[in-house]
Amino acid sequence: MEIQEIVSKQKEFFKTQQTKNLRFRKMYLEKLRDVILQNENLLYEAIEKDFGKSKFDTFTTEISFILNDIKYYLNNLKSLSKPKKVRTNIINQIGKSRICSEPLGNILIIGAWNYPYQLSLSPIVAALAAGNCCIVKPSEIAENTMKAMVKIINENFPSEYLYAYEGGINETTELLKLKFDKIFFTGSTKVGKIIYEAAAKNLTPVTLELGGKSPAIITKEANLEVAAKRIVWGKFLNAGQTCVAPDYLLVEESVQEQFLEMLRKYIQEFKYEINSENYTRIINSKNFERLTKLINKDKIYFGGNSDQEKLYIEPTILTNVNWNDDVMQDEIFGPILPVISFTNFNLVLNEILEHEKPLAAYLFTQNSEEKEMFKNKLSFGGGCINDVMMHLGNENLPFGGVGNSGIGNYHGKFGFETFSHQKAVLEKATWGEPNIKYPPYSEKKLSWIKRFL
Ligand code: NAD
Repeated sequence: MEIQEIVSKQKEFFKTQQTKNLRFRKMYLEKLRDVILQNENLLYEAIEKDFGKSKFDTFTTEISFILNDIKYYLNNLKSLSKPKKVRTNIINQIGKSRICSEPLGNILIIGAWNYPYQLSLSPIVAALAAGNCCIVKPSEIAENTMKAMVKIINENFPSEYLYAYEGGINETTELLKLKFDKIFFTGSTKVGKIIYEAAAKNLTPVTLELGGKSPAIITKEANLEVAAKRIVWGKFLNAGQTCVAPDYLLVEESVQEQFLEMLRKYIQEFKYEINSENYTRIINSKNFERLTKLINKDKIYFGGNSDQEKLYIEPTILTNVNWNDDVMQDEIFGPILPVISFTNFNLVLNEILEHEKPLAAYLFTQNSEEKEMFKNKLSFGGGCINDVMMHLGNENLPFGGVGNSGIGNYHGKFGFETFSHQKAVLEKATWGEPNIKYPPYSEKKLSWIKRFL
């Protein structure tokens, strides 16, 4: 079947109102959970083929996320979808006011390759929970995971409700010519602009989950041991191919030597090394070449080796870096960690403010004044104090960017709202209304109105 035909069928199916039924939504959320569990090995094998990601990392950073999302919506669907009563103001008496969440309709989800399951399936979970029909286009860059998702979705779900579409740039371009009620995109800022432009032609609302250069600041008041351990994990997990990974470090000069030693120690302790089963490959040779070019040999503090054939790049720390270096121009999205030292905390915050708003920011300190300055002065999608990336693991927090790092957010109730329209409904009694608002007007009526409003 042609994709245009599937989109038309989804539009017809949405009109039948079946997806609004809570039992229907729960049934398919449970089905998705069961399909994932039944095909767990297929999912592990596909991601191993694509970029050597371990079963452990795939479960902890992808599968468990999706299963938790499903559990969250199964437990909270009733309260999320219930109309919310709100106060009715005096001019609308006698009346009742409610906000009713209604599904937007037909959704297009476009995924990225770096956490291929989480980034395609988690938005699907939220979209179905909110009562929509959905088409997902996973990233063709991780070909095996894309094929695995296409298989498990299309073999188990009616295409008029949920359909996975296999394709690259050409297919996505065609898809973007069709009209949807919402486009949810995860990927680069560059492609995000293409999506936004295409969506604008149909006035289609978008959520754009993009990237950016996310800083981690380590002050002399930090617990350095904890900071080093958490940063090494967050930066080199998935070989740095993580949108919220610390992109670069800003380290207070007086503790830099000591801190760098700790980073080295944890990289070795975690066995983040070429050919290790704990470590992930670079997705393709294009990215491998882009990344190896960013390694300035004169600035290597640790690592720097790579294996072109197997597409591994060793965890690499660069020191004596400055803001004008190539590695500081764009999001790195790989296992290269530039370190810039600073002496003045306030000035370093000002430097960050000179750049585009990042998707994440991290601060390591025990000093409450520094914590306040970090929270109040910087603008970023989301972040942590004394940790990295774990804010994503709390479904009570929204996940999304700001400025160049994205538009909108999801996770937990925010995901439900992202795929819903908040419909305002005022219900009036048919009695007890003063005639004052109706013509013919008079000075006397106006003076009463002025007192009321
Ligand atoms: P990408 O922008 O190259 O691709 C994302 C999707 O867009 C893919 O499905 C691809 O097929 C499609 N696409 C690519 N070029 C297109 C074009 N010209 N027209 C239409 N569609 C097109 O991104 P990527 O390489 O898959 O992912 C890396 C980027 O994504 C990084 O910048 C990273 O920070 C960001 N990212 C953000 C998040 C987040 O949640 N905010 C998560 C993961 C990745």
